[in-house]
Amino acid sequence: MAEPLFGQPVLRVDLPAIVANWRDLAARGAPGAVAGVVKANGYGLGAAEVALALRAAGCRHFFVACLTEGLALRAALGAGPMIAVLEGFPPGDDGDAALVPVLNALSDVAAHGAAGRAAGVARRAILHLDTGMARLGLDAGEQARLAADHGLLAGLDPLYVMTHLACADEPGHPLNAEQARRFTAACAALPPMRRSLANSSGLFLGPGFASDLARPGCALYGVNPTPGAPNPMRQVMRLEVPVLQVRDIPAGATVGYGASWAAARPSRIATVAAGYADGYLRSLSGCAVAEFRGRPVPLVARVSMDLTTFDVTDLPEIVPGEHLVLIGGAGCSPDEVAARAGTIGYEVLTSLGARYARDYIRG
Ligand SMILES: *Cc1c(COP(=O)(O)O)cnc(C)c1O
Repeated sequence: MAEPLFGQPVLRVDLPAIVANWRDLAARGAPGAVAGVVKANGYGLGAAEVALALRAAGCRHFFVACLTEGLALRAALGAGPMIAVLEGFPPGDDGDAALVPVLNALSDVAAHGAAGRAAGVARRAILHLDTGMARLGLDAGEQARLAADHGLLAGLDPLYVMTHLACADEPGHPLNAEQARRFTAACAALPPMRRSLANSSGLFLGPGFASDLARPGCALYGVNPTPGAPNPMRQVMRLEVPVLQVRDIPAGATVGYGASWAAARPSRIATVAAGYADGYLRSLSGCAVAEFRGRPVPLVARVSMDLTTFDVTDLPEIVPGEHLVLIGGAGCSPDEVAARAGTIGYEVLTSLGARYARDYIRG
């Protein structure tokens, strides 16, 4: 890593921990393959770095959201592993032969099949069936039309047929079994193809959710795939933010925008170099904790764009130049920060800002 500049926060990403998480998930997905979902820049942690580490560990399938992400990842990985683009390619655009589009409608099937027939080379693709998300994928009517006319697949080389679970993080939700049932029935009406079903949480739902290719994302990055139960995954990131100033204020003085917090006692306030522009969400105002050498440090007042204030009255060793762990420390895992902000760990990770120095631990 380049030395961080004065006052620059450092985002440390533990690549061996991500690889260890992938190996755990790969064991759960066995005998099927287990992909790495690295959309949204590897959930904020760096798609290229994460994918290179996973590939070295044996991962052969990657998923990104859009064509731009796919092209960037292909450039980073070189030839070899499958890179599938969940949003598919723009209509009329073959995208890039090195990427595999997910076909999300019968019109995508027709367009890519026609291109394959015209070129005399079947186009590799993943067929996406909607079984309960109503977001992307062939709907029930389109599935019936395809089942009635397998010729619509001419010109295609479907590597997998996939569906996506809506409620996998709620093991008791009846839609899980219903989606698995719909998927099995829909696949039975199509030519035989390898199947791709579970996301991270889906891998924990039991044998009915096994498939030829699981697609975990969040669990690779330490987000709990089994909310409500202990997190089986390793933590993989740590955001260390330098203290720029520490000041003493008298009882009754207010801090920050809106003067929303007033000191109840003479206090020491530390200002650190990260705010909502860095993805330290403004909804954390007044209700987050950071970690300093294993101890909790309470956030006070509003999170501003570039700065956040903490009450360090009881931690005299915190002086300018020391670092607080804002995300990824004890008591402030991405899931814990998310709970305080009223969101989910996915959003905390994918919000991580661009101003951090990124330090990759390679083991
Ligand atoms: C994002 C995504 C995944 C990964 O989901 P996680 O919950 O992060 O494991 C898998 N499949 C599809 C279609 C997705 O959009």
